[in-house]
Formats: sequence, C-alpha cells, structure tokens
Amino acid sequence: MRVMSGADSDFVALFLGKVGRSVQSGVRLADHSYFRIGGPADFFFEAGTVGELRGALDAAREAAVRAVVIGAGSNILFDDAGFRGLILKNAVRGLRLESPPPGAPDGRPVEASAGTPLRDLVEFGAANGLAGLEFLAGIPGTVGGAVFGNAGAFGRCLSESLEWAHLLGRDGAERRETRDYFDFGYRDSKLKRTGETVLLVSVLLTPGNPASIRDLIDEYLGYRAARHPSPGTACAGSYFKNPIGPDGVKIPAGSLLERVGAKDASVGGAAVFHGHANFLYNRGGATAADVLALARDLKERVRTRLGVALEEEVIFLRAVPEGG
Ligand SMILES: Cc1cc2nc3c(=O)[nH]c(=O)nc-3n(C[C@H](O)[C@H](O)[C@H](O)COP(=O)(O)OP(=O)(O)OC[C@H]3O[C@@H](n4cnc5c(N)ncnc54)[C@H](O)[C@@H]3O)c2cc1C
Repeated sequence: MRVMSGADSDFVALFLGKVGRSVQSGVRLADHSYFRIGGPADFFFEAGTVGELRGALDAAREAAVRAVVIGAGSNILFDDAGFRGLILKNAVRGLRLESPPPGAPDGRPVEASAGTPLRDLVEFGAANGLAGLEFLAGIPGTVGGAVFGNAGAFGRCLSESLEWAHLLGRDGAERRETRDYFDFGYRDSKLKRTGETVLLVSVLLTPGNPASIRDLIDEYLGYRAARHPSPGTACAGSYFKNPIGPDGVKIPAGSLLERVGAKDASVGGAAVFHGHANFLYNRGGATAADVLALARDLKERVRTRLGVALEEEVIFLRAVPEGG
C-alpha cells in the first residue's frame, strides 16, 4: 500500500471540493480491465454524471495530476505497476432519440452519452426500428471508447454514422465537433493524439424493417460466438491491427500469426486463443509483462519470417509516461 504524500492529501481534498464525492486510492486496475491485469492506481473514480467528469478533470488539471478517462476497459492493457495519477471511469449513460434533421429528413439522430455501453446503443436502434449500427453488435465497451478507436467490424466502422461529438478538452473547454474533425481511420481517431474526452455523441440512423434489423444483429452475434473466445475469457479483442498489404487491401493479422505458429505460443499466464491467433488472453495469473513479451515475440516472428510489421490495436497504458 502506497503512503500518501502531502500533495496527495491536497489532491484528495481538492477533488472532494470540486466533485462532491471522494476519490478512491489504490484501486486494482485488474478489476476494471477485460484482461484482468493491472496494479493499483494512485487515484480512481467512477463518474456517473458529466458534472462529476468535469469536476474530476478540473481537479486533476489544477493539481497537475496525470488523468486518463477510460470506458469499460475492453481495449486496454494496464501496467503491472498500476497507474501514477487518476483513472477516471466514465459511467455516464443515456440514450435519446432526436427529431429528423432538416438536411436529412429520412435520418433519425440518436444521442448517446459516452459512458453508455455500445451494446445498449445497438439495441436502442433495433428497439426503435432504426438501422445502421447492426455490425457493432457484440463489440464490448462504451460509446466513448468506440469513438476513440473508431470501433468497427465486417468492413464498417462507427465513424460512418457519427454526426458530431461533444468534447471536453485538456484545457477544460467544451466544444462540439463534426465527423471531419476526428480524422477517423482504421481503428484510429484524432482523439488518440489530442487527449480530449468524449462526453456525448450523435449518430444518424435510418428507419428500417425491425425484423430485418434484429436478424442482422443476431447474424453478427452468431458469427462472433462461433469464432471468438467465450464471453468470460480475459482478453481485449484483437491484439494487433490488420496490416494493409501493398495492394491497399487489409491482411488479417490472425492468418499471419497462424502462419508463424502463434497458436502454440505462450509466456507465463499469457497465451494465444486456439480459435483465433490474434486474440491474446490471460489464462490465469498473467501479468502485463507476460502479455507484452508474448506480443513482442509474435510481432518479431511475423516481421522476420513474413516481412510484415504488425501494429498493436490494444492500448498499453504505462504506469508512468515513457521517459517519465
Ligand atoms: C471479445 C472482444 C471483441 C472485440 N471486438 C472488437 C471489434 O470487432 N471491433 C473493434 O473495433 N473492437 C473490438 N474490441 C475492442 C473493444 O471492445 C473496443 O475497442 C471498444 O470500443 C473499447 O471501448 P471501451 O469503453 O472498453 O474502451 P477502454 O478499453 O476503456 O479504453 C480504450 C481507449 O479509449 C479511451 N477512451 C475511453 N472512453 C473515452 C472517452 N469517453 N473519451 C476519450 N477517450 C476515451 C481510453 O482512454 C483508452 O485509450 C473487442 C474487445 C473484446 C474483448
């Protein structure tokens, strides 16, 4: 257990003053990560309202405490040493159907708070007979995390439907930005560089046949159930992005990994899922060091034997910034 310094106590008091609820200390990040890996965070808070998020980030800025906003932890590998600073879990949920916009009378905007589970957004569309997000069915995590990484599947991604997002900047300023601002790419957005927090998003859906929407969702869920690890498996989805080949077409990272024998690879408690070589998982007692060593080994095999450079999709959050 870390001993609190005077500066820590000052931050705890400042936080309480700004948020109205106490920040926690020493929370095990493994409990907030799909990988079930990660040491203690100096400070941890689960925000249930936008006011709490704002207040918490305000306090962190004023006290010069490093802060990172997370969603469900389904795409993060936390450090064995935890996190020096504040981990802010966004649990601000809410969904609202809006009137058709003048420019797109056939569309129906849906507004979602960033801490809303992505699954709830997909189901909300289906329940209201609105099509457009079925391909996201089965992707865990929150709406905010999905915007950050431009979540997608089956050749489609969230950015196709996103109209705007309301952001909270590092300086505490809030603004609404439309799709173009985000420089969306394959599992990429500008947010990875700006450090802005997503508060609220609007996606534009289209009225469709409710039974067909439901069928499509079930089809996608069925596809995943047959190929991906079962829901209880401690993993963070695909570990590597699919590299783009010389012809501009994506090459499945899983097939490259399979060719270099990844399915038999393991380091300590970290192993490769037998059904899909791009899923690294914690088979029990894995450390972040195990996962990183396994990923390094696989990456090196693909580079030396196939001449392809893999890039991580899962985000490794260091306890202290590199070089810090
Ligand atoms: C079994 C399984 C299958 C998966 N399949 C897919 C798939 O098909 N396609 C796909 O794209 N992903 C997939 N994923 C990965 C993951 O579910 C997505 O990346 C998801 O969008 C992450 O959301 P999250 O809320 O869990 O984010 P977290 O893991 O909590 O965070 C991820 C990153 O987003 C940032 N972030 C989170 N919320 C905010 C916010 N409000 N504002 C700013 N930044 C924020 C965090 O700081 C962090 O850097 C899968 C994961 C699993 C476990």
